[in-house]
Amino acid sequence: MRSAFRYVVILSLLATLALCFSCSKAPDQPKGLAFTIVCTTGMVADIVRQVAGDKAVVSNLMGEGVDPHLYKPTRGDLVKMVKSDVIFYSGLLLEGRMTEAFVRAARSGKPVYAVTELLDHEKLLKPAGSAGHPDPHVWMDVSAWSQCVQVVALSLAEFDPAHRSQYLANAQAYRKELAKLHDYAVQTIATIPQQQRVLITAHDAFNYFGQAYNLKVKGIQGLSTESEAGLDDINKLIDMIVASGIKAVFVETSVSDKNIRALLEGAKSRGHELKIGGSLFSDAMGQGGTYEGSYMGMLDHNITTIVHALGGRAPPRGLHGKLGSVTHNE
Ligand SMILES: [Zn+2]
Repeated sequence: MRSAFRYVVILSLLATLALCFSCSKAPDQPKGLAFTIVCTTGMVADIVRQVAGDKAVVSNLMGEGVDPHLYKPTRGDLVKMVKSDVIFYSGLLLEGRMTEAFVRAARSGKPVYAVTELLDHEKLLKPAGSAGHPDPHVWMDVSAWSQCVQVVALSLAEFDPAHRSQYLANAQAYRKELAKLHDYAVQTIATIPQQQRVLITAHDAFNYFGQAYNLKVKGIQGLSTESEAGLDDINKLIDMIVASGIKAVFVETSVSDKNIRALLEGAKSRGHELKIGGSLFSDAMGQGGTYEGSYMGMLDHNITTIVHALGGRAPPRGLHGKLGSVTHNE
């Protein structure tokens, strides 16, 4: 009995020692070995993965269809953050309910980076009613997200200077691909007839998209999915749709489509035929392992779906001919 007791004591002492060892190990871990990076959204994780290559294990906390505006970190998320070597998040208060967790992680000495931190604040959109706060949906402009790729490269180079040139080279190669995607968006969206160049979606995620690719954008709900659109706004939008002869509106994978349905009903009651032009990825990417589950595929899907629904010309399966694992229409 006594020896069993001693055995338990020794075991628990060993466990404590092991715990302490793992707490103190992280900062002294030799740089250049695989390290772990935790990201918030899939879009952030994707660009981090592109830049980190085989040097890090990258995971994201928010999966397919998850709304980052409302996301509260779970206990499991906090544990993952504590255990990680580096944290990347989108920033500009997109992940508003995670702020405390980021501050805590940064205070503990962990490198925590917002991929949007070096964007020129003067050039960011500040919508009316946001008290001068920038619109966080910058990934919708491929050229802006490409600048964020550079932020990832510089941040990883700071964390792991031994592989600086590799991170910069990975970023450069990926940014070349993104430049092609940006050009694809400019060229195909330009084929949409002028009067049809209006993008109506469930929430205001597409303002940078509209600015970059010359489309008027109307989101029915406020900038964050937390505000409810008034009936009045919906009626005004129906007036506009009927008057301009707009043929299609879009639903989003991470936002409820009840307001979009109200638009369809309203237009119908006035004898105007309006359809759902497709489902767009706004604040989350598609299913992991599919083309649409990458940043490239997410934007290719959005661009191609919008161009097709609004009467423009684009290849049936997008820039790389890889679209198709997501249903475009109902
Ligand atoms: Zn959003």
